[in-house]
Amino acid sequence: MRSARNSRYIKKFNRSLILKSILRNSMSRAELSDKIGLTRAAVTVIIEDMIRSGVISEAGKSNTSSGRKPVILDINPDGAFAFGVDITREGCYIGLVDIKGNLRDKEGFLFGGSDKADGSLEKIAESINRIISRNNIGRGRIRGAGISAPGPLDVFQGVILNPPNFDEWHNIRMNDFFMSRFSFAVNLENNANAYALYEKNYGRGAKFNSFVLIAVTTGVGAGIVLNQQLYRGADGFGSEIGHTSIDFDGPECDCGNKGCLELYSSVPSILKYAGTCGISVSGWQEIADKAEKGDKGCIELIRREAGYLSAGIINCINLLETEAIILSGDISYKPEILVEKIRKETEGKVITRGLHNVSIFGGSKIEDLNIVSAASIVFDRMFCNI
Ligand SMILES: [Zn+2]
Repeated sequence: MRSARNSRYIKKFNRSLILKSILRNSMSRAELSDKIGLTRAAVTVIIEDMIRSGVISEAGKSNTSSGRKPVILDINPDGAFAFGVDITREGCYIGLVDIKGNLRDKEGFLFGGSDKADGSLEKIAESINRIISRNNIGRGRIRGAGISAPGPLDVFQGVILNPPNFDEWHNIRMNDFFMSRFSFAVNLENNANAYALYEKNYGRGAKFNSFVLIAVTTGVGAGIVLNQQLYRGADGFGSEIGHTSIDFDGPECDCGNKGCLELYSSVPSILKYAGTCGISVSGWQEIADKAEKGDKGCIELIRREAGYLSAGIINCINLLETEAIILSGDISYKPEILVEKIRKETEGKVITRGLHNVSIFGGSKIEDLNIVSAASIVFDRMFCNI
């Protein structure tokens, strides 16, 4: 019994390893065998199976100068799909994404004043059904739905628990709803974790073994990737960088702590401070646009944001010593000035100074990153053998 379980596990593990390797670089069977340390025969058996199931395709011959040209393997973008659903306090965004991370179709709606979660779930289900029939996708190729939503979440049971300022969506059992409507399960994560999974598999985090993604929006969240795995904490409530204190004498936070990073560096906090200085701006985009044109007030707002975020980033680097810090959410819009100031602010203040450089940069810029990131929660499970 145990050996049957072990062999199933090893088979699944090898399939994940092969998928992940080919996602990064298309390659021949021989190159794959060298890269992952499996025999040619073992690679061939798994590859034949994956070609039959449509996930991998043969993409032509490689350009070697002599001898028989090997066939190059690639991920077949039509072989597997996932739905990405981003639930925000303003509305829901739903899309169909292929295994290579391309958005194929999308819909979305904003909440009306009296909308209940039940009605919104129905609308999400209707959107998914419309998208399936519009794109003529066989249900067998849909690997699941990834959902990003405001936390706290029970990511293991697929339940939205009790996010603040989102009362209609308390104790919503997403997994139960999706299982009853569709033949596929859902995987739930907060938006920072979803963004981190996109960056890890398809984006600017792919070349790193470890990074911390910091998402600044109405709140401040983090997605922590260690050894190419998302770190969630014991019960899935970890990575709350927004509620780490940068001033133990600071103002009280709803979480019970004082001087939390989020109280200083979330977008509403920036805008509130801007108001007290007589700077009229409506959001981060306007601040970044004006700073780029040399507006002194907006440059000062970015310098202040860089100072606060740096306090959190220095803590992250000293605690985890990751290879990179990725800035995401609203602040990934024109992040150059912010990144430059954070680099200046953090250099010389971390234990690793003079030993190695931690890369700090803005996250990937693609359209509908929120939807594609939500779908990547599902694909990450295929690539990581979860
Ligand atoms: Zn707090």
